[in-house]
Amino acid sequence: MCGQTVKSEEMFKRASRVVPGGVHSNARYIAPYPLYFLRAEGNKIWDIDGNEYLDYFVNHGAIVLGHRHPKVESAVRTQMDSGLAAGYESELTVSTTEDLVQIIPHAEMARFAGSGSDAVMSSIHIARGYTKRKKILKMEGAWHGTYDYACASYRSPLAKAGPKKSPRTIPESTGFVHEDIIKHTIIAPFNDSAALEKLVKKNKRNLAAVLVEPIIHNSGAIMPKGGYLNSVREITEKNDILLIIDEVITGFRGAPGGAQEYYRVEADLATYGKAIANGYPVAAIVGKKDILETAGPDTKSSIGGFGGVIYGGTFHAHHLALAACKATMTELKDGKVAQQLNDQTEMLKKGVEKISADAHLNMRVDGLGGEFTIYFADRSPSNYREAITSDGGNGANFLSLQRYLQQNGVRLLPRHIYHHGFSYSHTREDIERLLRGIREWTTVSHK
Ligand code: PLP
Repeated sequence: MCGQTVKSEEMFKRASRVVPGGVHSNARYIAPYPLYFLRAEGNKIWDIDGNEYLDYFVNHGAIVLGHRHPKVESAVRTQMDSGLAAGYESELTVSTTEDLVQIIPHAEMARFAGSGSDAVMSSIHIARGYTKRKKILKMEGAWHGTYDYACASYRSPLAKAGPKKSPRTIPESTGFVHEDIIKHTIIAPFNDSAALEKLVKKNKRNLAAVLVEPIIHNSGAIMPKGGYLNSVREITEKNDILLIIDEVITGFRGAPGGAQEYYRVEADLATYGKAIANGYPVAAIVGKKDILETAGPDTKSSIGGFGGVIYGGTFHAHHLALAACKATMTELKDGKVAQQLNDQTEMLKKGVEKISADAHLNMRVDGLGGEFTIYFADRSPSNYREAITSDGGNGANFLSLQRYLQQNGVRLLPRHIYHHGFSYSHTREDIERLLRGIREWTTVSHK
């Protein structure tokens, strides 16, 4: 049983004096106060009150091998001795790019970026620069980071969301130039090829790219229907529009080459982050040579060489993160990690199916490669509107389950349509422990 969290409560008060909301990323705030952590190892994490948790959050999915994976840690330590940090190119920056191009299907070139948001932003700039068009299309309920034009209609209130087949564009933040976003970002429902085709045709002359999370993990785990991603590819290709697949979560999990490999779909550009370096901060854009070269430097310029589409950042290809990336790729490339993650995801799905049937509940797990969600719904949601209205629309069942599990040392994030995850260091016994906790909760809460 996990004990008190008084030190976290105190730390929250202290943090709130100097950090808005006490957290450095708004999603980390959890009422009444977030937990503050001391350390992590393998499949576990400890908070500052000394409570130990079996971790089913894994840094928003970034930990694919396990916390403090020995080979990743060792590569980072060795790299530290070189003294190189950021701002320089080296053999490591070249060979790690080669690794990415090798592991990702259809990749011809790659470029590192600072974060997933940064990679998505640049991929959109590149698509616009390449096509000379301004608009992008994204799916309702998908999250691609904080870049203005990609940050719309993520958590649209249904009363304002507009028609199901052509949702309204709702910018997610004040501080954005809303009229520009509404004009240039088109929203489509996920898993509806006919609606997508109509929207693409209508906007074809001005549309640079379709941006898609292959599994909408940011609304839980909305799985693509059979053939859907291929139809997105066909529609974009037929209409001469680029396809950007955002693999920031799916990257390297369901298969070493991510969703592109797993679903056999080919992007023009794909973005990666999170698991790319087992928790170290780096991201990447990968894709076709002629498209990525749109953002290459102007090699003839003597005054800076920014090139056509600007691309850069002090921390791009940071050497410590790249050492971690290279070591992570080495572990991932033969597919054994993806295989175990997929097997254990299946085990979790089947286990929850059984518990749900025994308890006469409508609980289900969807996911792939160790990223999953627990929906309380009669069937798996196939789009944002079905996901957001699951579990009574307020997540009451899930939040009760999360609280019970956390008190018993198993930690999922208390968000009702969000992705949870595990890593290669999680064992079958860990999945059994989660299943045991879920079963106990059904008996305690549905007596
Ligand atoms: N794309 C997807 C699919 C994501 O899930 C996220 C972050 O959660 C991002 C992009 C943005 O990545 P970052 O948080 O590293 O900026």
